[in-house]
Amino acid sequence: MEQSRYPRICFEALKAENISNPNLTYSWTDQMRNIFDEFGLSFLSLETDISSFLSNCPSLLTKMFDGLRQTDIASVNKSTKYGYYNFLTPELPISAHYLSLKIPHRKAVIIAQARLNKGQFYHNKFSHILDGSICTLCNMQKNETLEHLILECRVFKYRRVKYLMPDIIGEESDKLEQILNVEDEAHANLLADYLISCLEERRFILEQ
Ligand SMILES: [Zn+2]
Repeated sequence: MEQSRYPRICFEALKAENISNPNLTYSWTDQMRNIFDEFGLSFLSLETDISSFLSNCPSLLTKMFDGLRQTDIASVNKSTKYGYYNFLTPELPISAHYLSLKIPHRKAVIIAQARLNKGQFYHNKFSHILDGSICTLCNMQKNETLEHLILECRVFKYRRVKYLMPDIIGEESDKLEQILNVEDEAHANLLADYLISCLEERRFILEQ
């Protein structure tokens, strides 16, 4: 940027101020310097060569991504309320598998809700809240939770057999976390079709 441009003049003035007075805080150059310091790239706070700055951006973003991910993992590990998400997180620092599968967006959305919302869905302009109170769809006297909907509720037995058994729910894989850890497109399609058809039937029953 040319020396005469106001952003450049502002940046140069704040940079000079930061160098002469390192204790100065609350300027945007200071906040940027703190971010760069945190990720071991302090020299970028004084960099005025845009090509050099841009060449370091991928490294900066990777370090920021890794740092934020580690913070999230540490928070989940400490949490009693959200420890459940530990079962859904890949060990490697990669996105969950289902996000890279070639499945329709509406199916990815329903899988995301099942994994992240702990029993709350918004589907076809209708809110489903499985809040753990006694399920009014069946007569099993069980709490209506995501686990109940997927594994137990008698009302959905026909759909469970049609979509989930034996490939998704079998002798070895009847844990909720295993069912929600979608590894391939076949699994994703079956789980999404099951959830969508259950939610549509649930809405139909509740509205009668
Ligand atoms: Zn039920």
